Amino acid sequence: MSTIFTKIVQGEIPSYKLAEDDRFYAFLDINPLAKGHALVIPKQETDYLFDLPPALLGDLFQFAQRVAEAIRRSVPCKRIGVVVLGLEVPHAHIHLVPLNGESDVDFRKPKLKLLPEEMTALAGKISSAYQLNVKREA
Ligand code: AMP
Repeated sequence: MSTIFTKIVQGEIPSYKLAEDDRFYAFLDINPLAKGHALVIPKQETDYLFDLPPALLGDLFQFAQRVAEAIRRSVPCKRIGVVVLGLEVPHAHIHLVPLNGESDVDFRKPKLKLLPEEMTALAGKISSAYQLNVKREA
């Protein structure tokens, strides 16, 4: 059976999409620790991040680098933190969390409750910044 993240990639479950290419997909975490908290995944279904083929893992981080830059340009923060948990969803993913302090990556904290309109606006801003960067690189 497909993972929930594969269903998101296939459009069977909605997501606040930030960026996509043929191998990777980025979207807002539905229970964010901070505004702009995102997940970056390979489309290939693998449970454990470090079981990915090394080249794919490297390329996933390069994709995440571009997404992180787009988030940093869109959300006031000092930098983007990277967290790997994978305790809930068995489909490899990287959390990108805008940081202003250490407590911003405390996953025991109550999550933010953002309105759908806020999530849509955030996703729009971040995905525009991502597209702009991709165009600049081309
Ligand atoms: P973990 O597997 O422990 O890294 O946690 C999975 C993360 O995925 C959690 O932060 C959830 O809020 C997030 N998540 C689960 N389902 C969805 C979804 N449908 N859309 C966006 N984020 C999700």
